[in-house]
Amino acid sequence: MTGITSSTSLRLLPALQNGENGAANASSPAGGDFQTLLTALVMSMSMPSTDGTGSLGQASPAASLFAPVMYTLMEKLIALQMQSVEAESQTAAAPQPVPAGMPIQGRLTQSSHAGHVALDLAAPVGTPVTSTMDGRVVYAGWNNQGYGNLVIVENGPYKTYYAHLSEIPVQVGQTVQAGQVIAYSGNTGNSTGPHLHYEVRVNGQRVDPSPYLQSWSPG
Ligand SMILES: [Zn+2]
Repeated sequence: MTGITSSTSLRLLPALQNGENGAANASSPAGGDFQTLLTALVMSMSMPSTDGTGSLGQASPAASLFAPVMYTLMEKLIALQMQSVEAESQTAAAPQPVPAGMPIQGRLTQSSHAGHVALDLAAPVGTPVTSTMDGRVVYAGWNNQGYGNLVIVENGPYKTYYAHLSEIPVQVGQTVQAGQVIAYSGNTGNSTGPHLHYEVRVNGQRVDPSPYLQSWSPG
């Protein structure tokens, strides 16, 4: 059992216990038990039928009135539980607001220095280039200042630059996630061989991308 399921059940069980008769208290808070419990509860509501079949259609008048309400309640609680699980899943896959990791599988051919605050990563033309952070594409196209085909991804104070590209499958305004393919490397612009030129800018200032190459983890 996962921690997610367990904590979700623990949150929902008190609400269930408020309305129930001790069966919930006897139950362990294991994941999925509350659904089983509610199913049993609904079944018990429909059990006192006049002919003893226990089917809903044959149930006593009181149970006939009550059972649909219980079914609705059960459906709502299950929906609530699923939302909680989804919400926690999203928390687990937290946004990556800071550049991290390598944008391409390539060989470092020029590190960052005063005249080149960026990294050059040699790779054959057409190698996939992945965004190093979640963000929004703010530039995607040709650049005349030497970058050639260029993609810029922005997130808060960070901008990441991917240059000399051969192909650009993303568009300006598009939201991208860390690890998503945003381009294919090339040899366009002021480039003397197939490679990716990778920049990280913080508040508009170029910084050495090297410290950002380690993989990101939440917390
Ligand atoms: Zn470069």
